[in-house]
Amino acid sequence: MIPAAFEYIRPASLDEAFDLLAEDGSRALAGGHSLLPLLKLRLTSVDRLVDIGRLRELGGISAGAGGALRIGAMTTYRDILDSEEIRARAPLIAEVSGSIGDVQVRNRGTIGGSVAHADPASDMPAVLLALGASFVLRSRDGERTVAADDFFTGAFATDLRATELLMAIEVPAPGTGSGAAWQSLMQPASGYSMVGVAAAVSVAGGAVSAARIALTGVGEVAYRATGAEEALAGSDGGTQAVAAAADHATDGVQVNADIHADRSYRSAMAIVLTRRAIEAALGRATGGSSS
Ligand SMILES: Cc1cc2nc3c(=O)[nH]c(=O)nc-3n(C[C@H](O)[C@H](O)[C@H](O)COP(=O)(O)OP(=O)(O)OC[C@H]3O[C@@H](n4cnc5c(N)ncnc54)[C@H](O)[C@@H]3O)c2cc1C
Repeated sequence: MIPAAFEYIRPASLDEAFDLLAEDGSRALAGGHSLLPLLKLRLTSVDRLVDIGRLRELGGISAGAGGALRIGAMTTYRDILDSEEIRARAPLIAEVSGSIGDVQVRNRGTIGGSVAHADPASDMPAVLLALGASFVLRSRDGERTVAADDFFTGAFATDLRATELLMAIEVPAPGTGSGAAWQSLMQPASGYSMVGVAAAVSVAGGAVSAARIALTGVGEVAYRATGAEEALAGSDGGTQAVAAAADHATDGVQVNADIHADRSYRSAMAIVLTRRAIEAALGRATGGSSS
């Protein structure tokens, strides 16, 4: 379908972009892989698309104080896959990027667009929740940093204001004895996760000292399975402890049901994949490589 008419502007500076975004009916355009289909299907409309592709401040991948990683919002999945920095400091982000969409999606789709769009079935929100990331948001009025835990507020809903841009994603350095892993049951045609689980664990003195487990595709929004985290933390990380923790994968969540997976199947898969993700993360943590 043909989208409703809109104005297209490609600002040359961040200030110009903020001025445009402050006008009613404006929306940022990054890679366009989520926004353009919505416009074409007339599921949304805009008065003005503000193409942020030329704003250098939204690019770049760098390591900051304490080894934390800063990934510019306009970083594409292709950039991620090509980045030594990301593969060394947050390999899970690269690992998951490799299976998102197809070549065209990975070449143009951005990590910032995925975060800002907050599709309940997209992968990066769960990965970034598990890795304890935070998001740097800026508008004409200043900058603020919001933890991933507080950012995703519902299906396609975030804490991002219409006048703000997501500038960058900050990922803390993994501690010693930590590992992270991803498991996904993909819908075969679209590749989106019917259930996706990211687990990040730390091990010290033969016990699990910390755990962050996040799921996507399962509920209204990507979420942390805090019941599973609490059951796992402090345990010996053995088979029984992991299985018992995974049983809490959907606690308190209204599990999605659709033509691809009904509620009971999706719930069962959430438990299975949570167990596998924890096992894989523990394997990496105890194998000495941090992911
Ligand atoms: C065929 C196909 C297959 C896909 N498969 C998968 C998959 O398997 N797994 C998966 O997770 N995803 C998948 N995706 C989704 C893909 O990951 C997203 O479409 C992409 O990452 C969105 O980024 P974008 O740069 O294209 O964003 P856009 O479409 O340009 O923007 C999306 C939304 O984010 C806003 N936005 C973008 N950047 C910013 C910013 N910096 N600040 C503020 N707002 C911003 C826009 O205003 C818009 O509302 C698929 C998409 C397609 C088309």
